[in-house]
Amino acid sequence: MFSGGQDSTTCLAHALSKYDRVETLGFDYGQRHSVELQARLTVLQQLRTQFPQWAPKLGEDHVLSLDVLKQIGGSSLTEDVAFAMQADGLPNTFVPGRNLLFLTLAGALAYRRGLQVIVTGVCETDFSGYPDCRDDTMKAMQLALNLGLERRLRIETPLMWIDKAATWQMALDLGGDALVQLIVQDTHTCYEGTRDVLHAWGHGCGHCPACDLRAKGWQRWRAAQAA
Ligand code: ZN
Repeated sequence: MFSGGQDSTTCLAHALSKYDRVETLGFDYGQRHSVELQARLTVLQQLRTQFPQWAPKLGEDHVLSLDVLKQIGGSSLTEDVAFAMQADGLPNTFVPGRNLLFLTLAGALAYRRGLQVIVTGVCETDFSGYPDCRDDTMKAMQLALNLGLERRLRIETPLMWIDKAATWQMALDLGGDALVQLIVQDTHTCYEGTRDVLHAWGHGCGHCPACDLRAKGWQRWRAAQAA
């Protein structure tokens, strides 16, 4: 599952270093900022040209339309409302059911394409409290998919128990400086869709929660490297 952000790009590199055939899947769910979908294409192209050891394993790219999420509405990712915390303690970037739908569709695609592992960049470590990113949710979805599809699919979550600093380190371990620089320059994480400023850690507004997490992870990682 590949959105074009830092986490899913690191997971894609993980998959390419581990498996012989990797296909990518993204979702167009009426994100306010289509820069994410553009970033996916740039990252895929850069991976193909800069990493000849991975290029032959990188198969088809799929983008599925999920307008239904926008129809349900209410999230700052799909509507023009400012980031805020909800009464239930979750940020309003939470799109209820999003990951559950994503995984169901990834399972259906895996079934059709004869794929056995779904790799996703969900993380419980320094996440925003999204309940659909939890390890228990992943285990429950894996069980539901295996029962409902009569298959042995595995949901793999390489980032589940590591923080953003360790995610940068994982990128370095998998693809060296070239992969770190590709992630800095070509992936997109910012909730505001801003790409006009390039910071050491990448493009973004620098103050939304996604930028904040990414920037702090970068700073902790660089500080640990220097120590
Ligand atoms: Zn931002």
